[in-house]
Amino acid sequence: MCSIIAANGQKELDLAFFENRDRPKETFIGNDIRKIGEVIGIYDLRARGMACGYSIKSGTAGGVANILGYTGNKSRGVLLLKALQEGKSADDVANIIKTEVALGEYGSATYVLCDEESIINIESFGRMTHVSENRRRKFVVTTNHFHNLRSGKKPENSVLREKYLERLGSKITEESVLKLATRHRDPAICRHGRTLASFAVFKEQGEKPRILYSLEEPCKGYKEFSV
Ligand SMILES: [Zn+2]
Repeated sequence: MCSIIAANGQKELDLAFFENRDRPKETFIGNDIRKIGEVIGIYDLRARGMACGYSIKSGTAGGVANILGYTGNKSRGVLLLKALQEGKSADDVANIIKTEVALGEYGSATYVLCDEESIINIESFGRMTHVSENRRRKFVVTTNHFHNLRSGKKPENSVLREKYLERLGSKITEESVLKLATRHRDPAICRHGRTLASFAVFKEQGEKPRILYSLEEPCKGYKEFSV
C-alpha cells in the first residue's frame, strides 16, 4: 500500500516525486536508504529491491504501488531497481518494466516513472499490462487500485487517498507536497502503524535535485540525502 505523486514541468519545479511507502502484505523485515550504483532509494531488506528511488544518472524517479489480487513469485522492487539502473530515461525504464512484467511472474502493481519530459504509469496484473503515457500530463497520483485494468482490489481507503492527493494538482511545491505527506486524517497519508518510510525528490531548474527521506512516519521529519 502506498501513495505516490509524480509531477514535472511545474512553475517552480522541473521534477517532483513523492512516495509514502506503506507496509506491504508480505513479511516486512526493514528498510533503509541506499545508493546502489547511481540509484538512491528506499531499499527493502527482505526483497533486496527498492520500493521507490531516483537515478541521478538518468534523472528518473520511480515507485511501485502494490495492488491486491495477483501473487507473483518475483520481486517488483528488484525489477524497479534494475530498471532504474539500466534505463536512460523514464520512457526507457518503463519499457524495461513493461517487457518484464508481461511474463506474468510479478505480483499485481502499478509502477510510476517520471523524468522532466514524461510521466508513465504501468498497470500490471498477471500477464496483462496497461501503459498510460501522455506527454501533456504534468501531474499524476497513484495509490493502490487500477484505473484501466479491470482487475485487482479497489480498497475504499485507496480511492479516498487518491482523491485527496489530486487536490494538490494546481500548486506543486516542495512545501505543499511535504504538507500532504504528513496529513493524518480524512484520509490519512501519513498512516501510523502502516507507513514505513517516505521518499521525495524535488528539482528546481538549473539546480541539483534535493532528495529527502524519512525511515519512519513522515510527520517525524525528513532528512536530506546528500548526493
Ligand atoms: Zn504522522
